[in-house]
Amino acid sequence: MRLFSIKRFIHYWMLSKSDLEKIKLVITPGTKVVISTHKSPDGDAIGSSCALAMYLEKKGCICSIVVPDALADFLYFIPYSNKIIVFDKMEARAKEVLSDSDVVFSLDYNDLKRAGSFGDLIADSKSLKVLIDHHEEPNYEGDIYFNDPTCCSTAQLVFDFIDELNDIELVDIPIAEAIYFGLITDTGSFRFPSVNERTHEIIAHFLKMGLAHFKVHEAIFDHNSMNRLQLNGFAVSERLELLENGRVAFIWLKEEDLHRFSAEKGDTEGLVNKALSISGVEMAAFFRSAKEMVKISFRSKGSIFVNELARDHFNGGGHKYAAGGSSEETINETIAKFKKVVQKYV
Ligand code: 5GP
Ligand code: MN
Repeated sequence: MRLFSIKRFIHYWMLSKSDLEKIKLVITPGTKVVISTHKSPDGDAIGSSCALAMYLEKKGCICSIVVPDALADFLYFIPYSNKIIVFDKMEARAKEVLSDSDVVFSLDYNDLKRAGSFGDLIADSKSLKVLIDHHEEPNYEGDIYFNDPTCCSTAQLVFDFIDELNDIELVDIPIAEAIYFGLITDTGSFRFPSVNERTHEIIAHFLKMGLAHFKVHEAIFDHNSMNRLQLNGFAVSERLELLENGRVAFIWLKEEDLHRFSAEKGDTEGLVNKALSISGVEMAAFFRSAKEMVKISFRSKGSIFVNELARDHFNGGGHKYAAGGSSEETINETIAKFKKVVQKYV
């Protein structure tokens, strides 16, 4: 069965006949697969990786997922996530599975730099390399590409990948949960322009299967600690500024702020969207001091493409409406630079 009651979308990423044959030849019982994703993995990175691993294991492959650094707690709701190898903590194991692998999948990133030191090892690996991703301007030397920057999430592409291989029947509730988790988190709960009828068609299929969609929403959104709520409240009341006649908003947090509220990984997730939610704001940024660098998130709606701003001024990149970058200057210097360069984009 293919998932199509209505007209099939024709995307340029559809696997060519020869790629399909290549993939079918390697996705066979006993094939050793490594799935890798980006630093500071988000719901889409982990959801898509776990969904792919669970599918490939149903085909008899032996899978390992390697992520560069730790997962935020709420991501452990995703089925299969407890088996993930965190490179930072289990380097020897990560190296072992990579050197043993026949195939490496790169999910939700398109430049090996985004996978940190593990990315360097992938570059040197002789395994077949498959990219499944939705970022623009790939910088990735692989063997098979299944990428589409118009697609809302890598999770959706993983579903499409399974569909291309004619294996929709193998999608069970855990796989649906993992894909649904990635869809929610990368689409701002199905609100971004990249959401299309295909996205909802996939969700309709999951609901027909009996997916408890509300449990996934709960796992993502009802997961606050007191500290997190108070940190968010502090950020909004003390660290939010408007620029450019209210068209740009930004929030910043220094290391001491994060310490004050015992911030944990993921506690500042979504803060940038609070800034973007102000009426009249078209672009928002969030600056957060981390060890010897400032990590930046950008979001926009309308005509400002934040991936260009991130790429040109803050060593970053991403999507038109959601991008990120970093700076090695102090947070005050970074914000001063932002105030100056943002004028060119609004
Ligand atoms: P977030 O603000 O959620 O950390 O990142 C939003 C998006 O920006 C990510 O999905 C990713 O595509 C991109 N992104 C974030 N940080 C970086 C970075 O340091 N470099 C690049 N190239 N892209 C980034
Ligand atoms: Mn993504």
